[in-house]
Amino acid sequence: MRAHVAPFYSSTGRPSIDPELLIRMLIVGYCFGICSERRLCEEVHLNLAYRWFCRLGLDGDVPDHSTFSKNRHGRFRESDLLRQLFETVVRRCMAEGLVGGEGFAVDASLIAADANRQSGVEGAKGLDPELSSRAVDEYLAVLDDAAFGAATPVTPRYLAPSDPAARWTAAKAGPAFFAYSTNYLIDLDHAVIVEVDASSAVRQAEVTAAKTMIDRAHDRFDLHPERLAADTAYGSAEMLDWLVTERGIAPHVPVFDKSQRTDGTFSRDDFAYDADNDVYLCPQGRPLTTRGTLVNDGATLIYRASKRDCQACALKPKCSPNTPVRKIPRSPHEGSRDVARRIATTEAYVTSRRQRKKVEMCFAHLKRILKLDRLRLRGPCGARDEFLLAATAQNLRKLAELIPVQAPLPAT
Ligand code: SF4
Repeated sequence: MRAHVAPFYSSTGRPSIDPELLIRMLIVGYCFGICSERRLCEEVHLNLAYRWFCRLGLDGDVPDHSTFSKNRHGRFRESDLLRQLFETVVRRCMAEGLVGGEGFAVDASLIAADANRQSGVEGAKGLDPELSSRAVDEYLAVLDDAAFGAATPVTPRYLAPSDPAARWTAAKAGPAFFAYSTNYLIDLDHAVIVEVDASSAVRQAEVTAAKTMIDRAHDRFDLHPERLAADTAYGSAEMLDWLVTERGIAPHVPVFDKSQRTDGTFSRDDFAYDADNDVYLCPQGRPLTTRGTLVNDGATLIYRASKRDCQACALKPKCSPNTPVRKIPRSPHEGSRDVARRIATTEAYVTSRRQRKKVEMCFAHLKRILKLDRLRLRGPCGARDEFLLAATAQNLRKLAELIPVQAPLPAT
């Protein structure tokens, strides 16, 4: 750690606070849900176990709380120290045999930003151009980032002047608030968090973050899962196709499908797809063909029946009562959706669904035990730093729980 941050320290002037001490104190804070840096310094000062962990001895000086913000926003961020720390802990988990690498699960959870919901300004009006702060600079820097500003063209209803990258959003049926999403990619054996990332609190950004994490786990740890368990938010045709054809990962993911009709007329399932001839066959055995033109931003191909067939058909009231011919939409990625549908009928899928709860338990642990239900730092970099530290603390707790250290016997 010291070697990693050494280039960011001056060789002259007053001796600096040891970065290892600061990181050890931060780990204590995140492991035990000590939210305030001022309180953390008091706790480390008084608590002997914390002093032991921080290697301070009985009379070592605890640094001032203001030292943290200088280092967290400066050297630690510039040197990417927190990511190095997280990856070191993941490698240790791998070395201890806690990471199987066969099955992964991905999910995201909303964490409230440090932004007052009452002070939001209307998103359509935009921010005051005079506004200037570190969080505003970070917001401008990620406007074209697919995990933040470029995730969706929809203007948020409100913007937080104190942290504009935080998204105005709401969990199910709850009140709206400003939030970021923390994204976890976990190994299903022992729920070790193998990747973590911050993103805007919208589904498209979370899917982008999932792809980034899968690729990064492969690049950094040479981990390539055979299956990925996730909820419907990750079941879009494009995401399933990316998993199946581009990464060769079995999607244990419910297919995002709105083709079922509820008005008593035939749904798409009632039409059989003939892959050899690229046509659908209707319940009367008549073909529905396509001209290959993509609609809906390239997301859909339309297959049409012949007008002559439909006009003479006895099933027309149950098939296309309001249109001259029946049309069937099909995604260009339908083959990958069919792979996911087939997997959904297997026993392995039932197991994956059960195992997927582990990632939700990680989020529950994060919020209830580590008390990270509201961020303390602002901006995408602040969110990223906090999520990295919290995931590191969770993995360290898992290591301590699963690989108990054999304490030496006291001398007699
Ligand atoms: S209405 Fe057209 S598409 Fe529907 S069953 Fe009859 S022939 Fe087939």
